[in-house]
Amino acid sequence: MAGATPVLDDHFRDQCGLFGIYGHPEAARLTYLGLYALQHRGQESAGIVASDGQKLRLEKAMGLVNDVFTDARLEGLVGDKAMGHVRYSTAGDTVTANAQPILIDCHRGQIALGHNGNLVNAAMLRHELEAAGSIFQSTSDTEVILHLYARSHRERLEDAIAASLSKVMGAFSLLFLTNDALVAARDPWGFRPLVIGKLEGATIVASETCALDLIDAEYVRDVEPGELVVIDRKGIRSFRPFPPEPVRQCIFEHVYFARPDSRVHGDVVQYVRHKLGVQLAKEHPIDADFVTPIPDSGLYAAQGYAEESKIKYKMAYVRNHYVGRTFIQPSQDQRSSSVEIKLAVLRDMVKNKRVIVVDDSVIRGTTSRSRIRLLKDAGAKEVHLRVSCPPTKHGCYYGIDFPNSKDLIASNHTIEEIRKHIGVDTLGYLSVEGMLSAVTSPKEHYCTACWTGKYPVPPVDEMDKGKHERNC
Ligand code: SF4
Repeated sequence: MAGATPVLDDHFRDQCGLFGIYGHPEAARLTYLGLYALQHRGQESAGIVASDGQKLRLEKAMGLVNDVFTDARLEGLVGDKAMGHVRYSTAGDTVTANAQPILIDCHRGQIALGHNGNLVNAAMLRHELEAAGSIFQSTSDTEVILHLYARSHRERLEDAIAASLSKVMGAFSLLFLTNDALVAARDPWGFRPLVIGKLEGATIVASETCALDLIDAEYVRDVEPGELVVIDRKGIRSFRPFPPEPVRQCIFEHVYFARPDSRVHGDVVQYVRHKLGVQLAKEHPIDADFVTPIPDSGLYAAQGYAEESKIKYKMAYVRNHYVGRTFIQPSQDQRSSSVEIKLAVLRDMVKNKRVIVVDDSVIRGTTSRSRIRLLKDAGAKEVHLRVSCPPTKHGCYYGIDFPNSKDLIASNHTIEEIRKHIGVDTLGYLSVEGMLSAVTSPKEHYCTACWTGKYPVPPVDEMDKGKHERNC
């Protein structure tokens, strides 16, 4: 019987995207555009909350930004302050209650919160809060922060937010919106990015600079790790309420997650990816007829590899940009794999050729194998896979949806076993040192836990997706 088959993409799921603006008459519409630019960070739900100084109004639903927001919905989001969120839910509870921003009304007044990252002690805190009488409206770890905030007796907004955040551990880039203020906060390790921009006297905070570029806003600076920024009628005020921790920015943002045109952790992503490719060519050279990327995330690394190795760069894969989340199989024959639905190969280009394929990562290995098979079926004489990061062996506790470690092919197979499984003639991964050579901050300022197993913040909770929804 024919049935709907998911279009598999053997990649880590992106986390969440945040966009906030203070002091612009078209705040909600600009937020809508900003979320468009950040859509790659979350495709399951989208939401915008706006304030006219009297009341917060919220619209959120499951779906892409374009599906969720009609003109009428945006029309109702009045005010010169707004904050929006796109989310990828990790498992199970893909319900609207978990969509963000989360809006509550407590004795301190209305407040909305959007979160990028993942807390490592949210389940423990939730248990304590529930025992003390708190009633949660979602299974998202983010809501814990709002309950802590509502219980705070501190008078000033920034003090109450800082007090609630001092209890949580893990990764958070956050935007709070009240009737009068937009507040940004970033955890002391700085796992997830957060930047400040300016547009016509308005202040913007966003996950990535690509959201600033789309609305012609100017990049001002990053929200620093451990910084809390209050934007209100007094201007922009910066606080450092958390004890300092060693900075550990997520380098996977550069390898795969962030958009190539964004500046993340101080570096432009496309240039970092290009350098990853250059370094990959130095570490794993091989002769071939041409280098080709897996579109789109392998693109810049493949260019770097081709330039360094002085081998021609060609686009052998063609990507279908109009694929939905599932497709209907025509029969039980399973005629087409999800990879074939998404990617095609230029047969005349690859026939009898020696091809170097550059991809950003290998996760379970299944998708890589299918992609390589497309080349082999098209008659490629040799296929050499080059991966622009080290073998991914460990899960992430800081806001990226990884498969369980046991499902990561590199966690329990040697490189040679992976090579055979994928079906390539040679396989080369970038080294951890090589990866770190492509970024400009000191090497110890990056988290590399999914390759090295060295976790900057050990998890307190049992990170079981079935028990507790990890945020994003
Ligand atoms: S474990 Fe990997 S994906 Fe997670 S924050 Fe660290 S580097 Fe990024």
